[in-house]
Amino acid sequence: MKYISTRSKEKEYSFGEVFLKGLADDGGLYVPKSLKKYSKEELLELKNLNYYELSTEIISQFSSDFISREELSSLIKKSYSTFREKNVVKISNIGDLKLLELFHGPTLAFKDVAMQFIGNLYEYYLNKNDKKINIVVATSGDTGAAAIDAIKGKSNLNIFVLHPNNKISSVQRRLMTTIEEKNVYNIAIDGNFDDCQNIVKQMFSDLEFSKSINMSGVNSINWARIIAQAVYYFYAYFRLGIETISFSVPTGNFGDVFAGYLAKKMGLPIDKLIVATNENDILHRAISNGDYVSKEVKETLSPSMDIQLASNFERLIYYINNSDSEKTAEIMKKVKQNSYQIEKNNLEVIQKDFLSESCNERETLDIIKKNYEENKIILDPHTAVGVGAAKKLSFNDCVVLSTAHPCKFPDATDNAIKIHENLPDELKHVLSKDENFKVLKSDIEEVKNFVRSKT
Ligand SMILES: *Cc1c(COP(=O)(O)O)cnc(C)c1O
Repeated sequence: MKYISTRSKEKEYSFGEVFLKGLADDGGLYVPKSLKKYSKEELLELKNLNYYELSTEIISQFSSDFISREELSSLIKKSYSTFREKNVVKISNIGDLKLLELFHGPTLAFKDVAMQFIGNLYEYYLNKNDKKINIVVATSGDTGAAAIDAIKGKSNLNIFVLHPNNKISSVQRRLMTTIEEKNVYNIAIDGNFDDCQNIVKQMFSDLEFSKSINMSGVNSINWARIIAQAVYYFYAYFRLGIETISFSVPTGNFGDVFAGYLAKKMGLPIDKLIVATNENDILHRAISNGDYVSKEVKETLSPSMDIQLASNFERLIYYINNSDSEKTAEIMKKVKQNSYQIEKNNLEVIQKDFLSESCNERETLDIIKKNYEENKIILDPHTAVGVGAAKKLSFNDCVVLSTAHPCKFPDATDNAIKIHENLPDELKHVLSKDENFKVLKSDIEEVKNFVRSKT
């Protein structure tokens, strides 16, 4: 499978390049040149695969020039052996809705599903190539922990994680900063997530710097993450055995919900994808009335979605403009100037596949409370936003992606129901261990110097 950038068709890339580089040199995101589309009959044949087999099937559609199907299969087995659920994910009921529980991995959020896979993909590559790679990634809270867990202790790899100082939950931070491996570096940036993400993007586009340290990225624009996430949309569909399916997806960087869109493009009969946002509602405004203009980031109970510039939205822009990369590049200029209004015809195309809603803080707490009273289920605040969005849209029979374990956000559940869940026993130690992180100003040169000094 060959890949191109969303901003130019001139150059083709292999899966290896796409995976290792994350972002194209022209600043665009990688997309496949063509997509496998499963027919109804073909889908029927996948119906009874277990999670591991299904992952191998879906991912191998994209990665065959990089890893053989047999090797991929054993890499996937290894990746998901760290999960507490035998089939990686689990579907449960919450009233009329279904929850797709994606948080049974080592760091208690859905990011583990893709990240455990990616960590082993790096190892596979480095076993064959005599290289050293430095991973630099920005996190709104959960990506960092998942990436660190997946990379820690692996040889020829360093990982640098930038998180917004004091803007993530202490459990989120501790899952990252208590890891003692010497290839793990935590940096707390005095700024918000968008600042962290911008610094990383600029470090990548500084080709002299990024090449000199052999920089690689695992943030949510990485195509390898997207394809690993597409798998659970298929899995949920097959397990539920229904004709068509809709999902409500708590959304920040538009990565997870884009994976659903990809599944739909590959033939999965998805009716609607609900983009559920917290008060950082740029995507809700964009999808409901075309207003893709970012505002100040607000801190909310669901910090992993405290994002204004949703990087993966560029991929949707590309697809709704019929894979026109020139048009996409033009639009991205407008996005950069913060003046993009989605054209009416494009908005209609988006609304065929997507709905959106946003939940404010009060509503999020109410949802946690109501679901605890009615169903005795404690929702984490991100999942609560997904449930709230489905309810507000009166979408009663959809699957809500449950993106984090409630114990990761004890303040939110304490606030709502005066209860918080404990961490699983194997993670309790992070609450008392010493933390190790470096606080830096939101300044690219400072970050570069720090990274250079460690490589
Ligand atoms: C990252 C994250 C999200 C948002 O996912 P995106 O792919 O950025 O849209 C939602 N919930 C939790 C718990 C997360 O960690």
